[in-house]
Amino acid sequence: MPAPLARRKYSAPTCLVLALLAAGAEAQAIDTSPAVPAPAAQAPLMTAGRPLLTLRPGAARPGDPLLVEVRGVAELPQGTLAGRPLRFFPWGEGFIALTGLPVEMPVGPASVTVAATRTAGEVPVVLSGNLDVVEPGYPSRELKVSGKYVEPPASVKARMAADRKAFAVAFAQPFTAPLFSRNFAWPRQDRITAPFGDKRTFNGKLSSQHFGVDIDGDPGTPVSAANDGTVVMARDNYSAGRTVIVHHGGGLYTSYFHLSRILVKQGAKVKQGERLGLVGSTGRVTGPHLHWGVKVDGMWVDGETLLELDFFPPSTPAVASGDSAGLAAP
Ligand SMILES: [Zn+2]
Repeated sequence: MPAPLARRKYSAPTCLVLALLAAGAEAQAIDTSPAVPAPAAQAPLMTAGRPLLTLRPGAARPGDPLLVEVRGVAELPQGTLAGRPLRFFPWGEGFIALTGLPVEMPVGPASVTVAATRTAGEVPVVLSGNLDVVEPGYPSRELKVSGKYVEPPASVKARMAADRKAFAVAFAQPFTAPLFSRNFAWPRQDRITAPFGDKRTFNGKLSSQHFGVDIDGDPGTPVSAANDGTVVMARDNYSAGRTVIVHHGGGLYTSYFHLSRILVKQGAKVKQGERLGLVGSTGRVTGPHLHWGVKVDGMWVDGETLLELDFFPPSTPAVASGDSAGLAAP
């Protein structure tokens, strides 16, 4: 029996919904904080034909991935979240963009603004509001190590430079719509030995932050694809060891480090649950485990939050026009 997985340290509302209540093309901002809780409350909020902006999760930590959905509009929306442009693509009955919050982002409100037309050719309506960015509470670990671990030897610097180039190439895939049709799943079920965001202080100096989730595993046990996609790296790297990276479309990638064996080839199409490799301790590690990384919109984000994102919420029930969208000011 696998050990129970680590529980999350905080509980965030599942989604934040912003609806344009005013008729016509007039721009209107609605700040819904505190955010609307619970998926159960989500369905009645969906009002047929009315522009609606939904963020999942409804409150997020720096380092969390985010799913931004727009419904009730005719053309591809444009918008920003905390100043970063959002890249939308058609999805279900509307459009979505996948992004995240940079780990260094300060807590507090982050503004989100999306403009889209309700009818093709019309003046765009603007949906805007604030996302609550909450304290991440990333733990800090003090490590005392000898100098050679802080500064890699000159002999491997060229190899590490080649690795960085290979990662940059792998993460430069053309932007496409998602290649998956279900939510993400754990690449293996076991104890989490280090969550995303752990701060590592080497000899009293903040040296690095952990941009993945470490999952325990015996050497040789299987590692599977978290979702459907295309293998864009199958390579032995100096620090990451034997590595597989899967591109899932939508600017989203998952990576699998320190494998003892790689079982897929670059360019291969993989399905969720398909074996990518075996747990190992290749690269710069102290013991066998899987380092599972998630990258979206150019940022490393927390895979545990990705697993909680519902990309396929239930379809919108028809609601008579003129009903309250549920977000009317109290
Ligand atoms: Zn790790």
